[in-house]
Amino acid sequence: MGKTFKKGVIIVSAEITTLLTFFGGTGDLAKRKLYPSTYSLYKKGFLQNHFAIVGSSRQTLTDEEFRQLVLDSIAEEADNYEQAQDFVSHFYYVQTDVTDPKGYAKLLELNNKLDEHYQLKGNRIFYMSVAPRFFGTIARYLKSEGLITDNGEFNRLMIEKPFGSSYETAEKLQSELAEAFDDDQIYRIDHYLGKEMVQNIAPLRFGNPMLDAAWNKDYIENIQVTLSEVLGVEGRAGYYDTAGALRDMIQNHTMQIIGWLAMEKPTDFTDKAIRAAKNAAFNALKIYSPQEVAENFVRGQYGASADGSQIKYLDEPDVPADSQNNTYVAGKLQFDMDRWQGVPFYIRSGKRLAAKATRVDVVFKKGVNIFGVGGEKLVNPVLSILIDPVGKIEFTLNAKDTTSEFQTRPDTLTWEVSASDKAMTPSPYERMLHDCMNGDGSNFADWNGVSVAWKFVDAIQEAWDQKPATDFPNYVSGSMGPKAADELLAKDGNAWIFKG
Ligand code: NAD
Repeated sequence: MGKTFKKGVIIVSAEITTLLTFFGGTGDLAKRKLYPSTYSLYKKGFLQNHFAIVGSSRQTLTDEEFRQLVLDSIAEEADNYEQAQDFVSHFYYVQTDVTDPKGYAKLLELNNKLDEHYQLKGNRIFYMSVAPRFFGTIARYLKSEGLITDNGEFNRLMIEKPFGSSYETAEKLQSELAEAFDDDQIYRIDHYLGKEMVQNIAPLRFGNPMLDAAWNKDYIENIQVTLSEVLGVEGRAGYYDTAGALRDMIQNHTMQIIGWLAMEKPTDFTDKAIRAAKNAAFNALKIYSPQEVAENFVRGQYGASADGSQIKYLDEPDVPADSQNNTYVAGKLQFDMDRWQGVPFYIRSGKRLAAKATRVDVVFKKGVNIFGVGGEKLVNPVLSILIDPVGKIEFTLNAKDTTSEFQTRPDTLTWEVSASDKAMTPSPYERMLHDCMNGDGSNFADWNGVSVAWKFVDAIQEAWDQKPATDFPNYVSGSMGPKAADELLAKDGNAWIFKG
């Protein structure tokens, strides 16, 4: 028997009964993340006897070859040979071309056999770990070829990113999926929602009445979300040059983190209530006109590093010489709702920045100085939630400088995830697989949130397309981005907390 790691409550886990089909079963994601995560669920007892895993892809493989591929993928986690062998004995392989209905007939036959053999009660999860152009096709064939059971406790679809490349394409995909699955059967993956410290936002906010009470315009000056990368485009220009930081990092991950920060207080901690509370905020997000985009958003493209060791974006392989792609975005979000009137949410994400970091900085209002000269160093209290690369919470508060007669100084309280906790922390993919098996959609992106994020991002992209940048490259590799991103905050009297 394993233990759940859900919502801080330790309870003995019930075994989950399911058939899990991985489309893209020989792909990079399956090998690096999905099989090790599934194995971890098996080791913790969530998967015991009543489960079967089907891998499917274009390659021709026997069950034995596929099992070896899975064994190789879990080699690092496997400390017990017999246990690993037992685990992979639940794996089966079907060669398919997902665009050809014939493959689905083979899948159906195998699924029905496995259903009986492992007594799977018709419970099915279909995981689409293939190129996004296949998502709609697979959903359609799952329905038309009869793979969705009508006797099961559940049939669920897990869908990888990206969910569309614009509102229009996302909406088309959504309507294709909706032909086969109800919305509560669709689990849209954003692996940032599976990260431990992103999941820590809710207990911090709602578990501490003083933070809960202060989480609004009366006490918060601004909120900052930073997703900065040190690496450049790393040979992925074919995809990245059409996406940019705006679509690759802002529309999905950044907006999903914003959802936890800006949401109303949910009536309870169920997925339905959480989504409703997030959507109260998403639906109040101001979508910008081209003029407002110019006022509230900054785009950037990296130049070479100061010492010449890093090349500029335009010199990267496969990047068109006249590329207008954004490798950096900073902007200000505004929510037209009582809680957040006048509170800017600043976001930024970019490549080739000074530091790799995913973090949230909640900047509280500064107190009135009643201390006279002794209070000249009063600062805005800041709650920082460090998500990557290390999980940390820092709370910078005003306190007395213990070395002086009476002088305040900012002191930082720090908590860091311990090495032993870290070793026990499930990976985002393990969490997401577990939550989907349990029918908990709390940590998946819902359609309303995704569609608002696309409308918001499309408005920015359209404004930029109409007015090409004339200053690219506008930041040096190894810096924290263009100067205009600092000016964006400075004109509100604010500054980025994280300086790289
Ligand atoms: P990949 O190219 O390594 O694997 C693709 C898989 O799809 C292979 O198993 C291939 O055989 C199969 N496939 C391709 N065409 C097919 C067809 N016509 N019929 C049946 N099978 C077919 O891709 P990946 O990196 O594993 O990514 C898979 C999905 O996961 C994508 O949506 C990607 O955006 C997403 N994703 C990947 C990562 C990652 O780290 N690799 C991270 C986040 C999201």
